[in-house]
Amino acid sequence: MLDGLHGRLATALPEGRHLPEDVWRRRHRVILWVAVLQAGGLGIMAALAGRTPLTALLLTVAVAYPLTFGLLPGAGRGLRSAAATASLLAASVALVYLMDGLTEAHFHFFVMVGLSALYQNWVPFGMALAVVLAHHGVVGALFPHAVFGHDSARHSPWTWSLVHGAFVLAASLAHLAAWRLNEQQGLRDPLTGLANRTLLVETTNRLLARRSGPVSVLFLDLDDFKDVNDSRGHAAGDQLLTTVSRRLEGCVRPVDQVARLGGDEFAVVVAGSSAVAAEIGGRMLTALADPVSVDGRSIPVRVSIGVADSTSAADRSADTLLRNADLAMYLAKASGKNRVVVYAEGMDRAAQAKAELVADLGSAVAAGQLAVHYQPTVDLAEGTTTGYEALLRWQHPTRGLVAPAEFVPLAEESGAIVEIGRWVLAEATRQAAEWSAQAGRPIDMAVNLSPRQLLDDDVVSTVRAALATSGLPAGQLTLEVTEGVLIDDVEMVVDTFRALRTLGVRIAIDDFGTGYSSLSYLRRLPADVVKIDRSFVQDLGAGGRSTTLVASIIELARSLHLEVVAEGVETEEQHAVLDRLACSHAQGYLFGRPQPAAVQRPAGPAPVPVPRPGTELAARR
Ligand code: C2E
Ligand code: MG
Ligand code: MG
Repeated sequence: MLDGLHGRLATALPEGRHLPEDVWRRRHRVILWVAVLQAGGLGIMAALAGRTPLTALLLTVAVAYPLTFGLLPGAGRGLRSAAATASLLAASVALVYLMDGLTEAHFHFFVMVGLSALYQNWVPFGMALAVVLAHHGVVGALFPHAVFGHDSARHSPWTWSLVHGAFVLAASLAHLAAWRLNEQQGLRDPLTGLANRTLLVETTNRLLARRSGPVSVLFLDLDDFKDVNDSRGHAAGDQLLTTVSRRLEGCVRPVDQVARLGGDEFAVVVAGSSAVAAEIGGRMLTALADPVSVDGRSIPVRVSIGVADSTSAADRSADTLLRNADLAMYLAKASGKNRVVVYAEGMDRAAQAKAELVADLGSAVAAGQLAVHYQPTVDLAEGTTTGYEALLRWQHPTRGLVAPAEFVPLAEESGAIVEIGRWVLAEATRQAAEWSAQAGRPIDMAVNLSPRQLLDDDVVSTVRAALATSGLPAGQLTLEVTEGVLIDDVEMVVDTFRALRTLGVRIAIDDFGTGYSSLSYLRRLPADVVKIDRSFVQDLGAGGRSTTLVASIIELARSLHLEVVAEGVETEEQHAVLDRLACSHAQGYLFGRPQPAAVQRPAGPAPVPVPRPGTELAARR
């Protein structure tokens, strides 16, 4: 509860941020001028009012004297603004004295409080309040005529000092509100109302200076947000960002601050360790998992989050924390997105290694370092191999074999995947045509297409060219697209799919079940094959819920006349369940691992029988 109260108070009051140096200097110069003019003016006024020259001189000195504190060597902004404020308030006291406590003379206090508010600093308000109370109370009691212009006040100076003090306090509050608004204008993101980068950096630096314990920063970047903007328009993008902001705010404590750094980047500063921050990051993933409804359509939101804390940073500065968290975020993206990665020392070296890998990828095709391995797909009822999936391998000169899970996302990010994908397609279609000719029967080939290829490249002509060059009949080629890509923008890929199918090739939805989509969206897709993700197949037979899910996917696919391939079958038990569910095709280590073409060579002319341990071979020769 205390936390909540503190949070509410913190949002209502100014954050007390420092004015930029140049702004402060300009304001201070004006205030100094006013103070000096007042000192001189009051002396002249005293002389004109018939006071003795000594009184006039004393008044001038009393008003000007506090300014000398600002001239002390090493005087910082705090002392200089306090000195100027003291002079302003001394002028009010002097004026009230000169005008024999005339009520109207007291208005001068309000003008001075307003002027000193320009410093946007707490000190002047405190000083104004203290001076009014002390001056009205003490001086009012000793010399009532020097402070108050009416009898009731002269009789009870403390009561009236409280009344005047209350007015000064009220004026101060009004200034505080204006100050707060002022702060917000330059420090808030206009779209979401969240803090902007400047404010986040300030808050972080302040926390780092005040806290002895760890301070953490989360760096968030929405996954594939560009696609939303491109396909649904900027208004939808804005709506999405606003909703995301509210959900993110719902995940933090009142003491933490969420900021929008720009575009689809957000950051959060947390007064706590990276463990606390990672927990908040986890909550954010969950909070965003629910698709956002924009104009009646739901858009899935995923986010990559990097976390860094001050204990693993080289120095206690907001910039270092943000840089480390950004790096961790980058690694979250590279390792599959939609996750939280906590910065650890040495990650910058890892990032460097990644960057080198990306650079090496650029020349991998030309250097002949890429290879395609082939994994058989089997017909479960017949027990025969019907085709192969082409799986990319990279033989790196120094690192050895690099797995596609490691470099395909990088190639995707850098754009190298377009050229690499074209090469895989050419290679795999050539291989399938060669095998078909050798076996004397059609050997099917499945090739994975990356989202980047689907969206950026003229994929239809690439496929047409590969078929023409290899001579492979289009009906023997299946193009696999991961489900995750599709749900991001079904509409956009539907046209491409249609065009590809016009060529005669088949479309497979890969890794089905890993997205957040409902089964019903399958209906809208011009597809021919559904590949059930390995994660569900692996659970089969363990008595888990996967069996029900796989059964319903198979059922749905059948009703839509789609072929089903179960991925990642490793055990006889899984095989048996799939048989029972009447799954038509499967792929997995049980039937064959991905191998180079020379090892995998299919025998012909009959389809290759699939060995089933403990069972009769189902092949018919
Ligand atoms: P994918 O298309 O879902 O490919 C199936 C992955 O599962 C392959 O991993 C394969 O080796 C693995 N696998 C097959 N059977 C089993 C099994 O029984 N158990 C286990 N544990 N794993 C099995 P791989 O080759 O590492 O490829 C990973 C992913 O990389 C592929 O997933 C695909 O999305 C992507 N990829 C591979 N080659 C290409 C390519 O040429 N282009 C593009 N864009 N992506 C590719
Ligand atoms: Mg695949
Ligand atoms: Mg798959």
